[in-house]
Amino acid sequence: MATVLVTGANRGIGLALCRDFHNRGDTVIATCRNSSDELEALGVEVHPLDVTDNGSIEALSSALSSRTIDVLINNAGVLFGDSLHALDYAAMETQFQVNTLGPLRVTHGLLSHLQSGSKVVIITSRMGSMADNTSGRSYGYRVSKAAVNMVGTNLAQDLAPEGIAVLLLHPGYVRTGMTGGRGNWEANEASQAMVTRIDELTLKQSGAFWHAEGQQIPW
Ligand code: NDP
Repeated sequence: MATVLVTGANRGIGLALCRDFHNRGDTVIATCRNSSDELEALGVEVHPLDVTDNGSIEALSSALSSRTIDVLINNAGVLFGDSLHALDYAAMETQFQVNTLGPLRVTHGLLSHLQSGSKVVIITSRMGSMADNTSGRSYGYRVSKAAVNMVGTNLAQDLAPEGIAVLLLHPGYVRTGMTGGRGNWEANEASQAMVTRIDELTLKQSGAFWHAEGQQIPW
C-alpha cells in the first residue's frame, strides 16, 4: 500500500482523489488550508498546508518526520477569469504563486520524503497548452499552467537520477467549484481516471503531459 499526499484536499478533485486512494487501502495524507466536513468524514489524516507559504510547507515536513511519500499530488489551484479587456495583474500574480510556484515549493520542501520509486504528480490544465489554445482569454490561468508545465518537465529531468517520475496531468473538464459546476464529468469520475494514469506512470514517461482519459496533450 502506498502513502499518497494530496494538496487542496478539502474539496473538488483533491477530495475525490483522497477518497479513491483511501477506499483502495492506501494511506492518505490530506493537506489543505481549511478542512471540510466531507474530508473529515473520510477518516484520513489531515494536515494544514498553504502551498504559497514556505513556513507551512516546512511545518508539514517536520510533522511527517521520517515518513516516505510514494505519490505526491500537487492539486491545489486557483482560476480567476480574465480577458484582454479586463486584465487583473494582481490576480495573475496570485495564480502564478499558487498554480506555478506552489507545486515547485511543495515538491522542493518535501524532497526529503521522496525516494527512488516515488511519483510527483502536478495537476495542470490543457489551458496551459500553446498548441491547444483556440479560444484565448484566461491570461493569468493559462500562463500559470503553461509555466507549471515547465516546472514539471524540469523536475522530471532533475529527479530522474533519483528514480522519481513526474506526471503533468490534465483532469479533463470537471464539475467543481472552480468551474462553477460546469464540466464533462464529476470529480469522482475524473479521479478514477487520474488514479489509473498515476498507477501507470513509470520513469519512461516522466515529464509527459497527459489527459486523464489517457491521451498525451501537445505542449
Ligand atoms: P476547486 O476550486 O474545487 O479546488 C481548488 C483547491 O485548491 C481547493 O482545495 C482550494 O482550497 C485549494 N487551494 C487554492 N489555493 C490554495 C493554497 N494557496 N494553498 C492550498 N490549497 C489551495 O478546483 P478543482 O478541484 O477543480 O481543481 C483542482 C486542480 O485541477 C487545480 O489545480 C485546477 O487548476 C485543476 N484543473 C481543474 C479543471 C476542472 O475542470 N475543474 C480543469 C483543469 C485543471 P480552499 O478551499 O482553501 O480554497
